[in-house]
Amino acid sequence: MKYDYDLFVIGAGSGGVRAARIASQAGARVAVAEEYRIGGTCVIRGCVPKKLLVYGSEFAQAFADSKGYGWSVSGARFDWPTLRDNVQNEVTRLSGIYNSNLIKAGVTPYEERAELVDAHKVKLLKSGAEISAERILIATGGAPLLPDGLPGLDLGITSNEAFLLEKLPRRILIVGGGYVALEFANIFHGLGVETRIAHRGDRMLRGFDEDLRAHLHIESERAGIQLTMKTTLTKIDKQGDGLRVTLSTGEHVDTDQVLFAIGRHPNTRGLGLERAGVKLDDYGAVVVDEYSRSSVENIYAIGDVTNRVNLTPVAIRDGHAFADTVYNNRPTAVDHRSVPSAVFGRPPIGTVGLAESDARRSHDDVHVYRTNFRPMRNIISGNQERTLMKLVVDGKTDVLLGVHIAGEDAPEIVQMAAVAVKAGLTKKQWDSTVALHPTAAEELVLMRERVAAPPSIA
Ligand SMILES: Cc1cc2nc3c(=O)[nH]c(=O)nc-3n(C[C@H](O)[C@H](O)[C@H](O)COP(=O)(O)OP(=O)(O)OC[C@H]3O[C@@H](n4cnc5c(N)ncnc54)[C@H](O)[C@@H]3O)c2cc1C
Repeated sequence: MKYDYDLFVIGAGSGGVRAARIASQAGARVAVAEEYRIGGTCVIRGCVPKKLLVYGSEFAQAFADSKGYGWSVSGARFDWPTLRDNVQNEVTRLSGIYNSNLIKAGVTPYEERAELVDAHKVKLLKSGAEISAERILIATGGAPLLPDGLPGLDLGITSNEAFLLEKLPRRILIVGGGYVALEFANIFHGLGVETRIAHRGDRMLRGFDEDLRAHLHIESERAGIQLTMKTTLTKIDKQGDGLRVTLSTGEHVDTDQVLFAIGRHPNTRGLGLERAGVKLDDYGAVVVDEYSRSSVENIYAIGDVTNRVNLTPVAIRDGHAFADTVYNNRPTAVDHRSVPSAVFGRPPIGTVGLAESDARRSHDDVHVYRTNFRPMRNIISGNQERTLMKLVVDGKTDVLLGVHIAGEDAPEIVQMAAVAVKAGLTKKQWDSTVALHPTAAEELVLMRERVAAPPSIA
């Protein structure tokens, strides 16, 4: 045979594992290399352990809320090593399942780093072995960005290390304004850590609907997370047992931990892609066509390394579509529009489709429906957290363009709302659905009054 394998996958994360399994089940001889742990970011140090920490962080508020319902909870104490270790045990269990699923599907896993030698050959770094393959799939994901040249940078951590902390800090400064920053802020805050966010922008969650962004600011500050916007770090110094951070405003912040969550970059550095002639964009992402094929005919790329929509279900779809296209004779292009997403903060966010500002840019007539209320669950508990719901509708066709929710269970609700947006339902069809009472979600089908258009548009 001309090549050692038909397909060599670099990276056993969400996308790589799916692509390897489907290709192998279609009859291809497949190998996959993983330099850290099988399962990738989502399973090992992303979605899964994060969501478990979110669950763990929500008990303090639940205990506080329970008083209004007649409960008294005394002596509640939190033990970080218990949560951390239970989460890690679950991660290990899942990684094992991923590994055995690969083997069951007939894929050969190599647990070491792989780099390209040329368009048909990879080198395994630990063993030094060189392996040839007819096709190579780049599924190396992304990695946390760090501020270049910041004095004291080594004193900080990223989300990668946050899951493994030896002890819970008393105070934490989180740097960044995206969903990872906000989620970790809520996790630590919920676990009793004095939490502050420093972000260079003027608001968190760039790219999300402006009403959601404003709502999250109000709710985060009300809950007690300190938000410092339009600020960067100029240095970090050790001070006693803790750290002293100097901000661009000149302010000093004393803290015990600094967590950088300023974004992620595609994992293409040092991969040898230039040796094979694979084109990257300015951000370092592999440039691909709709079938995930790179500029080199036999090299494909899927998931975060292509920087299209950086979410697990998308990487999985990309991987599956690649394998169907190439090995199942079923050319499949993934539709990256109307992908729902969540931010597991307080309150959690679920969102799908166009933000109001994007809709106004692409449509002549946009109708907006919005409600903001304190949900039933929070009334007798005394919890002040409010829910925001918003629908963005094409005024000409009545088609639903976006659904945005910040409130309890928002991600669960939006998964279903995404079906309506994807299907292109009209607001009239949406409203013809009878409310399910008593729920918070019923408000979604009861919004009759349009919000007046902003003065510049009216
Ligand atoms: C803190 C955090 C929370 C997140 N939460 C969510 C969420 O709630 N929902 C959601 O949908 N998404 C979430 N994500 C994003 C999600 O994890 C990614 O979109 C997803 O993992 C991308 O899958 P992938 O297959 O492209 O890459 P990855 O899952 O990152 O897999 C890439 C793999 O390649 C390996 N690798 C890299 N280079 C090499 C090499 N040269 N040789 C061998 N192996 C290599 C890496 O070690 C890694 O295991 C989160 C991410 C983070 C960081």
